[in-house]
Amino acid sequence: MMLGLLLARAGLKVVVLEKHRDFLRDFRGDTIHPSTLEVLHELGLLDEFLELPHQKVHELRAQFSDRLIPVADFSRVRVRSPFIAMIPQWDFLNFLARHAARYPGFELQMEAEVTDLLFEGNRITGVKTAAQQIHADLVIGADGRHSTVRSRAGLEVLDLGAPIDALWFRVSRRPSDPANTMARFDRGSILVMLNRGDYWQCAFVIAKGALDGLKQRGLEAFRATLAGLLPFAADRMKEIATWDDVKLLSVQVNRLRQWYRDGLLCIGDAAHAMSPVGGVGINLAIQDAVAAANVLCKQGFGIEALRALQKRRELPTRLTQRFQVIVQDRILSRVLTDASGPLQAPLAVRLLERFPVLRQIPARVVGLGFRPEHVKSPAA
Ligand SMILES: Cc1cc2nc3c(=O)[nH]c(=O)nc-3n(C[C@H](O)[C@H](O)[C@H](O)COP(=O)(O)OP(=O)(O)OC[C@H]3O[C@@H](n4cnc5c(N)ncnc54)[C@H](O)[C@@H]3O)c2cc1C
Repeated sequence: MMLGLLLARAGLKVVVLEKHRDFLRDFRGDTIHPSTLEVLHELGLLDEFLELPHQKVHELRAQFSDRLIPVADFSRVRVRSPFIAMIPQWDFLNFLARHAARYPGFELQMEAEVTDLLFEGNRITGVKTAAQQIHADLVIGADGRHSTVRSRAGLEVLDLGAPIDALWFRVSRRPSDPANTMARFDRGSILVMLNRGDYWQCAFVIAKGALDGLKQRGLEAFRATLAGLLPFAADRMKEIATWDDVKLLSVQVNRLRQWYRDGLLCIGDAAHAMSPVGGVGINLAIQDAVAAANVLCKQGFGIEALRALQKRRELPTRLTQRFQVIVQDRILSRVLTDASGPLQAPLAVRLLERFPVLRQIPARVVGLGFRPEHVKSPAA
């Protein structure tokens, strides 16, 4: 959607195809990072965007046993909007779609599922949906981590492995609850809680494939574990009425060896599925879109431009995934498997507690990423 907006703004003709009838999806990433807020500012949309209902997250905290430790402080990052804006992803997408529709070249088709690609020899020349064939100078695969486009194009996926899955659910939030968005680490358990105003959006991290075992132990045992992690909300665990209220996110960390073919470019999760560590998937997808618009508007749609885009975005992707895999393997896996003795915060976290100035490092990695992009594509 962001790339569609930017290309239409540059005077190009763009069709965005979305398979669903709307953008309503529960438990999607709802984090709009400082880097995305900066992009919205560069597009002249920031003030209007911040009028949408949202919560501001200025600091991330981690709780190890009973010790609450600030780990990322966005106020220390020198940007216009030093916070994460929590906003439902559908509000963000509808906002972008509304603004993109101001440009005459922009067209959004809902309930238009791409089922295959069109080829002329080796070159990709468009897409097929159930209702039509659309020919295009360039097809962008931005269809997420189960991308049809990338599999039809036969692009090779490098799997980096993920030892964890996440279970998403919500419980109501009361005014007397703590206000912070935080992660709770306890012996054998990790719970991330996002303050969504009148409810908590929670992710319970489990070892990969452990859901069946949890189900065998029963919902009551699951609720009791959660109540132990969230004593202030123990009485609300009955809001998880059945296992249907708990959604499994099967975590993947992967990236394409090559993000493009003649006539095709993949970006966002279609090019690189990210771990939920740090909540940076949206950030990287938006950064890819901004970089793609910059490169395509300057260099055209030839293979050199597509190669230049991968070159630009691959390094930040690799560095972020490396950081995520280290956190997954060295911290999350250990917390999940070590069920003995009191849990001590890892050294890196203790250093963040001791030296507040260090908290700008995780804030930068999460909030801006490794190579923040700026809008250079023209407004025609
Ligand atoms: C449960 C969950 C929680 C997450 N939490 C966070 C978070 O807190 N912060 C964060 O930054 N990231 C989070 N993420 C990751 C984040 O949602 C993604 O990284 C980000 O949305 C990627 O954007 P994208 O545009 O590349 O792909 P997507 O957002 O997946 O968008 C792809 C779109 O393409 C459509 N589509 C798919 N196939 C087709 C087709 N064949 N034809 C037409 N349309 C198609 C889909 O319906 C979808 O709308 C989370 C992901 C999940 C699943």
